[in-house]
Amino acid sequence: MSSADGFIAGTTKIVDGGPDALRYNIVILGDGYRAGDMSKYHADVQNFVTTLETTPPFGALWDALNIHRVDVVSTDSGADDPASCGDGSAGSGAAPKTYFDATFCGDGAIRRLLTCDSVSARNAALSEVPEAHVTMVIVNSAQYGGSGGPVATFSAHPSAVEIALHELGHTAFGLADEYEYYAGCGTGEAGHDHYGGGEPVEPNVTANANAGTIKWRPMLSAPAAALPTTVNADCAQCDPQANPRPANYVGAYAGARYHHCGAYRPSYNCRMRALNQQFCAVCRRAIRDTLIPYLPAVYQGLWWNAPAGSESGWGISFAHQEDVIFATWFTYNAAGKPWWLIMTAVKGAGDDYSGTLYETRGPAFDATPFDPALVTALAVGSGTLTFTDVDNGSFAYTVNGISQTKAITRQVFAAPVPRCTFGMESNLALATNVQDLWWAAPAGSESGWGISFAHQGDVIFATWFTYDQNGVPWWLIVTATLGAPNVYSGALYTTTGPAFSAVPFNPAQVAITAVGTATFTFADGNHASFAYTVNGVTQTKQITRQIFRPPGTLCR
Ligand SMILES: [Zn+2]
Ligand SMILES: [Zn+2]
Repeated sequence: MSSADGFIAGTTKIVDGGPDALRYNIVILGDGYRAGDMSKYHADVQNFVTTLETTPPFGALWDALNIHRVDVVSTDSGADDPASCGDGSAGSGAAPKTYFDATFCGDGAIRRLLTCDSVSARNAALSEVPEAHVTMVIVNSAQYGGSGGPVATFSAHPSAVEIALHELGHTAFGLADEYEYYAGCGTGEAGHDHYGGGEPVEPNVTANANAGTIKWRPMLSAPAAALPTTVNADCAQCDPQANPRPANYVGAYAGARYHHCGAYRPSYNCRMRALNQQFCAVCRRAIRDTLIPYLPAVYQGLWWNAPAGSESGWGISFAHQEDVIFATWFTYNAAGKPWWLIMTAVKGAGDDYSGTLYETRGPAFDATPFDPALVTALAVGSGTLTFTDVDNGSFAYTVNGISQTKAITRQVFAAPVPRCTFGMESNLALATNVQDLWWAAPAGSESGWGISFAHQGDVIFATWFTYDQNGVPWWLIVTATLGAPNVYSGALYTTTGPAFSAVPFNPAQVAITAVGTATFTFADGNHASFAYTVNGVTQTKQITRQIFRPPGTLCR
């Protein structure tokens, strides 16, 4: 009944969000699976993984995760099931030889408490995956059971996945039990009337029900409402009252952390209080807070020279979807005329993205129709973007034989500055922030021009990449502010300035000229009309986001 009773056959990364050093690593091991049980083990693991992905908030954070499956072969099948247990239940008396020696009634008191040799399991996980953050063990038994602690253990019973999610809440995310009893409501249990300790460290329980200072104050459903939300009239037992508020209401409910009174939970129910419930809003936030640092960085938005303002007059916009950054660099040519170049930059080994820089030419902005077949692209060099964090990096390029490197930083012009996530939302129509690269709708109908939105607070800074009457690159800018709901408008400007290669680039030499107005009216987060007057020409274009790696990137 030890690691002599089997062997580790191998490890497979079954969910691959990226390098182990950059992601949150869940390592799943099996116990009580013989060599002939491996396909069942794989199915049991997959069942858990599928459930995890469909349990909010994990699906939206999936890119933060790596999940590693370690194939552990045991001599015998199943788990120990002692004939007697403190709760009076009768077990089969089975004592199979298994690698991590899993056993029901692991504490000698409760049959469903399924434990294993957690030290051995943790060591096995770390030897297979040195970057392991959390270790889970699936036990090959159809009997219901599980436990938390340093290793989350659960059986292959269909409902044991629920235990696994609850135990993951403890083991991985530092959540407390929100239930208000120890042995159970109605057991007459003593010593659980009043919580008498200090403020608990866990984010989802509190001894402080002061509405002004409660630890989940920003998440209260009704910040002005008095707390606590419920009071237990008889602290000798669990509070029997039904939820007086709507489901999912966040307040302070009496009874939590094994006590009938004196400790509070955020919502009436939660997976940390009872199985088959969703995680409450406060627990979901705690899970997000843990996992968000492991999401791949997304650089989408408007950038300019660093330090901020030092070379005001040129910039570079990024649409960042999965491993690709589509960059649009708006600057000036050797004659000081507006000039823009594009680059489809692909992720390299580190946080660097490289590609070929192109100048495109095409029909004038007001051509009707705008025929994308007339757009031509000429390679003029190459570029590499390297990032040190989500707001800082460098842009190295060679253009027409001139090689330079610029430090770049995110351009901040209003608050709040959104953060962007790839793949977090499959329906971008639901987005309330429109920061992205847009083009004519339907997608592809006027390929060759576009408009980049940087959206901060109630301000959209838009850069429109198009062509003048000679068909050469021309870009215009507008700082569009929110007027009527979903309508942003402002004056359109064209600028001239020092050549991209000028050293120094003197922002005082940038000249700005008003040429008209622009209005963006958003039907939803992915559809808008772009109405403009430029040098007396008035037109309206329907526009939509340019998605080159579905489902695209959402900023908020
Ligand atoms: Zn628990
Ligand atoms: Zn909760």
